[in-house]
Amino acid sequence: MDKFLFEKYLLRASELFADWKGRWEEFECDPSLEVDPARLETAFGELTARLGGCYPFFHPSYIGQMLKPPHPVAMIGYLAAMQINPNNHALDGGPATSALEKEAVAELARMTGFDPYLGHLTSSGTVANLEALWVARQIHPGKRIAFSDQAHYTHRRMCELLGVPFIEVPSDASGCMDAGVLRRFLYSEEIGTVVVTMGTTGLGAVDPLREILDLRAEVPFRIHADAAYGGFYTLLREEAGFPGAEAFRAFRFCDSAAIDPHKHGLQPYGCGCVLFRDPSVGLLYKHDSPYTYFTSEDLHLGEISLECSRAGAAAAALWLTLKCFPLAAGEGFGPILRACRRAAASWADLIRTSSEMYLAAEPMLDIVAWFPKARAMQATDISDASRELFRRAMTDPVSPKYLSTFRMETEKLRARYPNLAADAPDTIILRSVLMKPEQAALIPRIHAELEEMIRGMRGGEGGGEG
Ligand SMILES: *Cc1c(COP(=O)(O)O)cnc(C)c1O
Repeated sequence: MDKFLFEKYLLRASELFADWKGRWEEFECDPSLEVDPARLETAFGELTARLGGCYPFFHPSYIGQMLKPPHPVAMIGYLAAMQINPNNHALDGGPATSALEKEAVAELARMTGFDPYLGHLTSSGTVANLEALWVARQIHPGKRIAFSDQAHYTHRRMCELLGVPFIEVPSDASGCMDAGVLRRFLYSEEIGTVVVTMGTTGLGAVDPLREILDLRAEVPFRIHADAAYGGFYTLLREEAGFPGAEAFRAFRFCDSAAIDPHKHGLQPYGCGCVLFRDPSVGLLYKHDSPYTYFTSEDLHLGEISLECSRAGAAAAALWLTLKCFPLAAGEGFGPILRACRRAAASWADLIRTSSEMYLAAEPMLDIVAWFPKARAMQATDISDASRELFRRAMTDPVSPKYLSTFRMETEKLRARYPNLAADAPDTIILRSVLMKPEQAALIPRIHAELEEMIRGMRGGEGGGEG
C-alpha cells in the first residue's frame, strides 16, 4: 500500500478519535498521566534500536516461519478502534465492535460453508482449538480425541489440560493423516472426535478429509478441522490442480473449525476464530445466561466464548480488511493465496530438477520442504548441511535469506529416496513458508542463489564462492 495513502488513513484514524472525544464535555487530564517528552524520546529511541534486531518478516527473502506483517488496512482499522479500546467480551464493552465481529465471522463462516453456524473471534488459534476440543469433550465425555502425529502440539497439550484421553494417528510420507490406521483405531478405541488438520504447521499437509468423512458412515464421530493455517485456502477449492481442493470442498461437513486470521488473514497477532456447525453447542457455554436458544442471529459474544476480555480492535481490523479484500476466489483473498500457491508449486518444480536440492514432500499449500545435497546421501550429513545452509543463508552479506529447519522422520524421507542412509532416526531439513504473494516472482532468483550457496558449501573450502 502506498505510503501516503497509509499515512492519510493513520492520520484520519487518530483524528476520528479526537472528533469522537469532542462529543463529550472536555476535562483536564490528570497530571499523573503526563509524560516527560525527553524521557519518551530516549525510550522510543531505545525501542527503535531494539526492534531493529528483528528478522525482516515482511520481505520476500524471509522464507522461514509463518510470519508476515499485517496489511496496512488492518493496522488502520486496529488503530481506529484501539483508541476507544472496546472489549468484545460483552455487548456493553464493545457494542460497535461486537457487531463488526459478527459480520466478519459471518464472512468466515460463509467461506467454510457452515450454515447455520455459531462462532466468534478468539485471541489465537490455540484458544480456538481449545474451545473446540472443550466442546468435543462435553459432547463425548470420556472418549478419545484423535489427531495425527503432524497435528500442532497444542492438541496434545490441550487434551492434557482438559483431561481428555487422546490418540496419535501416524502420518504418511507427505505428512497427511493415515486414514487406514485411523479406521483401525476407530474400531479398536473409543474415539469421540477426530482433529483433521487442514494445513499442518510443519509441511502444510492437508489431512484426507474426504476419506475421513467416509469413515463416519461406518462409525460415528465428531470432526474438528484445525484450519488455523490453511483455512483461507478454502477459497481455492474449485481450483484445478490445487492439491487441497477435495479436502477443502468437504470443509462444510466438519463439526467445528479453527481459522487464524492472524496467519493468512493479513491480521496482526491476536486474531483467531472458532466456528461450530451446530449452533446449539452454545448451550454448553451456559453460565447464568438468560438464553436457552442460540442461533447466529442472537449470538451474544460474551455468552459463547471461553475467553473474557478480547480486543474489539481486532474485530475492527478484520472487518475493514474483509471490506477491502473480500473472501472470494476471483478478487481479494483469492489472488493473494493463488500467488502463494504458485510460488510453492513453481519452486517445487525447480527443486525436482535441481542437482543441489531435493524435495522432501510435495507442497499441498504454500510450504516447501526440501533439503540440500550433502556430502553423502545420509541423514546425519543432510542434517549438518541443512543447519549449515540455514546459518550461511541468513548471514550472507549481499543477499541474506531467512530459512527455517524442520525435523522429519528419516523413514519418511526414505519413502521418496530409498538410497538415503538412515544413520539417524530423524533428519533435519529445511521448510520454507511462502505466504507472501511477492514471493512468486522472486522464487527463481532465491532458488538460484541457494543452489550456488549449497555448491559452495560442498566445495569444502569453508568460504564458498558466494
Ligand atoms: C498456528 C497454528 C496453531 C496455533 O495457533 P496460534 O494462533 O499460534 O495460537 C494451531 N494449529 C495449526 C495448524 C497452526 O498452524
